[in-house]
Amino acid sequence: MEKIPHKVTKHPIKRRSARPIKVGNIIIGGDAPISVQSMTKTDTRAIDATVRQINSLEKIGCEIIRVAVPDIKAVKCLGEIKKQINIPVVADIHFSYKLALEAIKQGVDKLRLNPGNISSQKHLSMIISAAEEKDIAIRIGINAGSVKKNSKSSRKPSGQNSKLMVEECLKYLRIFEKHKFYNIIISLKSSDVLSTVEAYRQMAGKCDYPFHLGITEAGPLPEGLIKSSVGLGILLSEGIGDTLRVSLTAPPEEEVKAGFQILQSIKLREYGPEIISCPTCGRCKIDVIKIVTKLKKQLSSISSTLPPIKIAVMGCEVNGPGEAKEADIGIAGGKTSGILFCNGKIVKRVKKEKLVEELISKILEERLHDISDIKEFKRLQPEIKEAVDLKSP
Ligand code: SF4
Repeated sequence: MEKIPHKVTKHPIKRRSARPIKVGNIIIGGDAPISVQSMTKTDTRAIDATVRQINSLEKIGCEIIRVAVPDIKAVKCLGEIKKQINIPVVADIHFSYKLALEAIKQGVDKLRLNPGNISSQKHLSMIISAAEEKDIAIRIGINAGSVKKNSKSSRKPSGQNSKLMVEECLKYLRIFEKHKFYNIIISLKSSDVLSTVEAYRQMAGKCDYPFHLGITEAGPLPEGLIKSSVGLGILLSEGIGDTLRVSLTAPPEEEVKAGFQILQSIKLREYGPEIISCPTCGRCKIDVIKIVTKLKKQLSSISSTLPPIKIAVMGCEVNGPGEAKEADIGIAGGKTSGILFCNGKIVKRVKKEKLVEELISKILEERLHDISDIKEFKRLQPEIKEAVDLKSP
């Protein structure tokens, strides 16, 4: 698996203690960094398209991938898909115990089940035994939607929904534990942020299984991202959560980027470049929006290979460097020229039209020496050249 440079920061957030669960080559829980997952949006039966999507997601940092398993044809593709990818695969199973058993046979690394959808206890026991035998984890995924269906009223206040989700989860935990199966990860998702937060909070004190966080059916961009950031942000800041998926009605790449950005924003992980830019005001001397848009585009091709770095783009040199003191490297605009600064100190004055070019050169000069693997550096050359060749706005 390609190594994505990242840092796990020492941080005042004290994480809830959760037992470590192995999913392929990734640990969820324990001291492991909070992992970022996504789900393929291709038809699983289209092996090539699915493999392409997974490999592209891995390139930008996705650590675990879930695939839908709607039918027997799809489940039979899992073994071949697994052969062509590097990250652990989770089979998403609904209703059919036969699909679950076949997915295990195909060598998936984890199952995601809503046990409430498996109608017979006998079938559930068969799945648990097969997972035990292959030593693979099961995520017990409780969704508010299915809990509502099982309860008398479909419209419950959010507090009651959380309670129902927790009760349902505890009910299934008892079944799994009766089979002495403890290779469990839990999720309690709702499209309602407060219900989700409350459910995880309640569950946190009741077991030590790791939690997969997510706001289900969060929606399109930016709404889905905002809902997910608020919900996941609250939980993560309370130390709750061991892996996450930001589910968005958007390309899966957006889910992965959002996952890392959420973790990065509260310093649970530091990953690639982080752009700090001012909102601009009447003092602004450069087109900050245009520069940031271009910079983001240029950095996106090399961001997953860059070590963490804070880059500032500030509209004026009077206040810019001071306001962006925490940045490693930055630029600030002046009337005809601007300044390049490092750690709040001015490095040099640069013509306005050369500002972005100088900034990218400085980022690469400062940070690429951290990449010790020369081969990796050489592999990156074309992408770096493209970034440096950027025409300034
Ligand atoms: Fe305004 Fe300058 Fe602050 Fe940007 S850095 S918001 S232009 S004062």
